[in-house]
Amino acid sequence: MYKVIRDVSVRKKAVSFLNNATHKKLLSTKTEVVSSADVVIIGGGIAGCNTLYQLTKRGVNAVLLERAKLTSGTTWHTAGLVWSLRPCDLEVKLLQDSRSVYSNLANETDDYAGWINNGGMFISRSKVRTQEYMRLHTLGKAMGIPSQIMSPEEAQKIFPILDPSVFKMALYAPEDGTIDPAMACNALVKVATKNGGKVYEDCPVLDIHYTHNILGNKEVTGVHTDRGFIRTKCVVNCGGAWGPRVARFAGVPSLPLIPFKHAYVVTEAIPEIRGCPNLRDHDVSLYLKMQGETVSIGGYESNPIMLDQVPDNLQFHLYDLDWDVFGVHMNSATTLCPKLGEVGIKSTVCGPESFTPDHKPLLGEDPNVFGLYHNCGYNSAGMMFSAGCGIQMAEWIISGRPHYNMFSFDIRRFTPGQMSRAHWMRESSHEAYVRNYSIVFPHDEPLAGRDASHDALHQELVDDGAVMQARAGWERPAFFIPGEKIRVQQYDWGGTHDYPRNIDQRYEEILKGDHTFEFSKHHDLIGAEALACRNEAALFNMSYYGKFYITGPDAQRTANLAFTADLSKNENRVVYSLLLNEKGGVEADVTVSILDGGSGQLHEPIFKGRGYYVVTSGFNAQHTLAHLRRIIHMHKLRANISDVTKQLCILSVQGPDSQRILQRYTDAGLSNDAFPTYTHRSIRLTKAPNTDNKSYTCRALRVGWSGELGWELHVPSSHAIQVYRALSRAKGLRNAGWRALTSLSAEKGQ
Ligand SMILES: Cc1cc2nc3c(=O)[nH]c(=O)nc-3n(C[C@H](O)[C@H](O)[C@H](O)COP(=O)(O)OP(=O)(O)OC[C@H]3O[C@@H](n4cnc5c(N)ncnc54)[C@H](O)[C@@H]3O)c2cc1C
Repeated sequence: MYKVIRDVSVRKKAVSFLNNATHKKLLSTKTEVVSSADVVIIGGGIAGCNTLYQLTKRGVNAVLLERAKLTSGTTWHTAGLVWSLRPCDLEVKLLQDSRSVYSNLANETDDYAGWINNGGMFISRSKVRTQEYMRLHTLGKAMGIPSQIMSPEEAQKIFPILDPSVFKMALYAPEDGTIDPAMACNALVKVATKNGGKVYEDCPVLDIHYTHNILGNKEVTGVHTDRGFIRTKCVVNCGGAWGPRVARFAGVPSLPLIPFKHAYVVTEAIPEIRGCPNLRDHDVSLYLKMQGETVSIGGYESNPIMLDQVPDNLQFHLYDLDWDVFGVHMNSATTLCPKLGEVGIKSTVCGPESFTPDHKPLLGEDPNVFGLYHNCGYNSAGMMFSAGCGIQMAEWIISGRPHYNMFSFDIRRFTPGQMSRAHWMRESSHEAYVRNYSIVFPHDEPLAGRDASHDALHQELVDDGAVMQARAGWERPAFFIPGEKIRVQQYDWGGTHDYPRNIDQRYEEILKGDHTFEFSKHHDLIGAEALACRNEAALFNMSYYGKFYITGPDAQRTANLAFTADLSKNENRVVYSLLLNEKGGVEADVTVSILDGGSGQLHEPIFKGRGYYVVTSGFNAQHTLAHLRRIIHMHKLRANISDVTKQLCILSVQGPDSQRILQRYTDAGLSNDAFPTYTHRSIRLTKAPNTDNKSYTCRALRVGWSGELGWELHVPSSHAIQVYRALSRAKGLRNAGWRALTSLSAEKGQ
């Protein structure tokens, strides 16, 4: 399955790195390891080296343990491309930081550190891709990244082997470049060791030790190696494709990370390309990297090879290239640059790389083990991102929070439900790989990894025309096409890997209506839902929201520490509040209902003293939960958090007629005096027209995000369907989805 490095140029690179005298001097040899450290980093690839560099720069006593030699995992055979333009401001900032780290390393070490600033060029073959590049150009301008729009002929002047007839325009970013992995790691380690950091090669970590604190939470206490035990309260998992195994040492059953084979080939010399920029042709998932007079050709295939796992003993090894998979890139490359069809292939490079379900890395503290940080899962972008991410990781470890809003990279964006499904990880990671170069539209949805979590109303809503969107594994209605039943189909892997294409492709067709930067094809449908809410009333299913009870003797203290709002008010108040971190940054925004112990039903739990019912966006639910748990852990509070997300549904009735409509279903007073804004109470829903005439209780909160009069009904899932059926038949109340709700709430500044 694996091959020893036969390719001469690749082997030379590895051997010269290993024999590098300066590099050897920096590293501790077969001695015992130190007995304690503030931070222990596991893995000596680019992520580990960048983390060590940033921590030691900030005076942290940090140690890096590498099982074999530095770079011997994925890093040594990377293409090393560093781009600067991405469709997301966080990523643009991280790339800016990476470039700054790499370009300054030479000054710090007085040695060339592998940074080549040869520029980068994006090729557009379509009108919509051109629109995307124009947006990137604008974003770059706003963030201080220079780029230039070029006609095909202008592009050909700086990249002479391009065929200008096959594309429409190019976007040229002069600050892009390439980083040599061995030189960069060597330089990072050189500075880090000067700053007091320690690096141990040939030092596999065999286990991570943790203890259970008095509240039953796990806390890291040290790492075990065959050269001794290191006491530490903080471990950083920079294990790359082996990251899930490192996490298992600490009792974390799974990380959403799947190793894939990823490859490029290196051509014979083409003198004309010397000094040319690197190139990305997104429309055909192709990249070209310039190295002297050779071109490395790589990309993202629709049928990539996924690996179950990568064995521990895989060091400086490559796989044989599967031309049936990779061949597609040669066709794309030779149409763009016919000259590439005239030269031979000097070598092939195919190695393991980590991919994740949403194509973003896994960073930050594990939600279940205090002191275990992850910094892995780089999705073929570890060279360009890990230097910027290293800065954020160092700040995260030192001060508890990163400087940037790293939510989209934070391990806590995934739910336990998602992570326990191996199939969800594999198919989502496959789709993310395949769509790596796809245009990022504002309202696109994935086809893979769907249906991970349903609320109790899911089927009813689909039957009533809901077109679903996925958030944090939950399906929630985006908008409704009355009279249609559009089910999200099982992922068909795009017809690859021997899967037949789905017969029913209606959901996919509907998504295509959103593949635009202009108004969506569904604009009028969504507009009608929004207008119904503004003028009459609309019914929103918000059940995917996270719902937690905080109870116990220290519940009030927890609330005082966690929330910005004053929660010492009366029991029937609903308070909109923020959760802040120590630096005053916003971790979440939530509504908190202040409770007294109730009857024992799900919406009225029994407890002593004061309790709190916290409702947070479903997308942020894990993050909110982890933050609350951290406060309880840090302050050693006797407080419990119960997650009742699945057990309660939320039906939200919003609009000027909401009071009149809801009043027909309940004897509880809903007038301004009887039920003022920002209060809650248990109500009985009776006299439901056209239903079983039974009555059901729920907690009603007079809140809403549409900017209109409205109530949220928090209904036990066991009878949510009955309540929904009754309400959905009410005259003047129509189903509406999240696309309408987000538009309404943005319009009203809610
Ligand atoms: C063909 C290819 C092309 C690429 N091109 C680019 C590109 O152009 N630009 C870009 O930015 N990225 C690119 N990448 C991706 C980039 O190379 C990776 O994201 C990056 O190298 C990953 O670095 P890492 O430190 O996370 O992992 P690794 O380099 O794999 O490091 C992990 C280390 O952990 C060690 N380890 C594991 N378990 C233990 C243990 N128990 N104890 C001690 N040590 C342990 C391993 O030995 C290994 O050295 C490419 C990848 C491939 C495969």
